[in-house]
Amino acid sequence: MAEVILKNVKKVYPYQETKKKKKGAEEKKTNLQITEEGVLAVQDFNLHIKDKEFIVLVGPSGCGKSTTLRMVAGLEEISGGELYIDGQLVNDVAPKDRDIAMVFQNYALYPHMSVWENMAFPLKLRKTPKEEIAQRVSQAAEILGITQYLDRKPKALSGGQRQRVAIGRAIVREPKVLLMDEPLSNLDAKLRNQMRAEIIKLRQRINTTFIYVTHDQTEAMTLGDRIVIMKDGVIQQIGTPQEVFDHPANLFVAGFIGVPQMNFYDAQLVLDSDGKYAVELDKAHVVLSDVKQANLKKNNVKPGPITLGVRPEHLLLSGAAENMIAGQVEVSEMMGSAVHVHVNACGSDTIIIVQTTELENPAAFSIGSQISFTFSGATAHVFDRETQKNLEA
Ligand code: ADP
Ligand code: MG
Repeated sequence: MAEVILKNVKKVYPYQETKKKKKGAEEKKTNLQITEEGVLAVQDFNLHIKDKEFIVLVGPSGCGKSTTLRMVAGLEEISGGELYIDGQLVNDVAPKDRDIAMVFQNYALYPHMSVWENMAFPLKLRKTPKEEIAQRVSQAAEILGITQYLDRKPKALSGGQRQRVAIGRAIVREPKVLLMDEPLSNLDAKLRNQMRAEIIKLRQRINTTFIYVTHDQTEAMTLGDRIVIMKDGVIQQIGTPQEVFDHPANLFVAGFIGVPQMNFYDAQLVLDSDGKYAVELDKAHVVLSDVKQANLKKNNVKPGPITLGVRPEHLLLSGAAENMIAGQVEVSEMMGSAVHVHVNACGSDTIIIVQTTELENPAAFSIGSQISFTFSGATAHVFDRETQKNLEA
């Protein structure tokens, strides 16, 4: 149980490579800020994690998630800023004194030890009494459903079972904070879904603050109380899954959260004669909802070119004739309960999700067909074309 606070935390990896190698490395990391000190992997990281909260750090590979987690664990030196655990400044506290446990993507089990020995190991290191070790290991094994494998060596276990052992080894210590770095990434899709549910159950059984790292937006959305979306070492948005889905702070978050991805268009924001904001795309003229009107007014947004974003599930196949956008079907994917129709419209690739129950004429989506669609003023997202910020935010 613990509160974790990161204040203006920053990580710079100093250059270690020779000049020649360094050049290659810089080319690979064109998206990162290269300073004279080194590679700026994380910057301006501010986050207040509440006791027992489940926080997910999510973002594409290389955005600084593992670096942030490793700084919390004490495995990586903090270049700037402050880290507090339970009110104590721990920048210079050794990892073993932070009362934190970490689970890695590759399990990192000891191959020569049995499952029981693997799980007991951190307790033995701490000179925990024998009876207490036995009690804690069997309890963790029971929580994770691995009691029947306690005598086996890791090589005699499946990937999912190994990951359970790794989690078991982390929770026997009853750490204040449990860190997990892409713990499910090495599992196949079906097992990953299963383990995701297991982690939700685990969370209900143990009283710990979780910081969980993943590049997978589905994991982030389903596990996190709040999620922190990162890009190039910088936090893009912090919020509950619903908040970041409904109100993405910028184009990056809008595109990263939600599958299939939000559709984007070059469109125009206009002010109607009655003073209301509307979006114009192709021949469509869609007046925004009252909530959106108020947000844009509050920000004193000027009409002009914008990037319009509409999620595939929010595009509509029927509407007022004067609001329809024309497109041509390129691919139609039958997903069972829905069809994902890929449409070329306004020079963009558009995906429209049509529920199978609403499917009146499936032939309408055969390749090459002309279709038309529109969107509602309540589900349209408007972004500044230059700054890529949500104009409502
Ligand atoms: P993520 O976990 O989000 O994929 P990382 O935190 O591992 O990202 O890496 C962030 C950035 O820091 C990357 O550009 C990576 O190449 C760089 N980096 C990570 N570890 C080191 C290191 N030990 N030395 C130098 N650069 C590093
Ligand atoms: Mg990583």
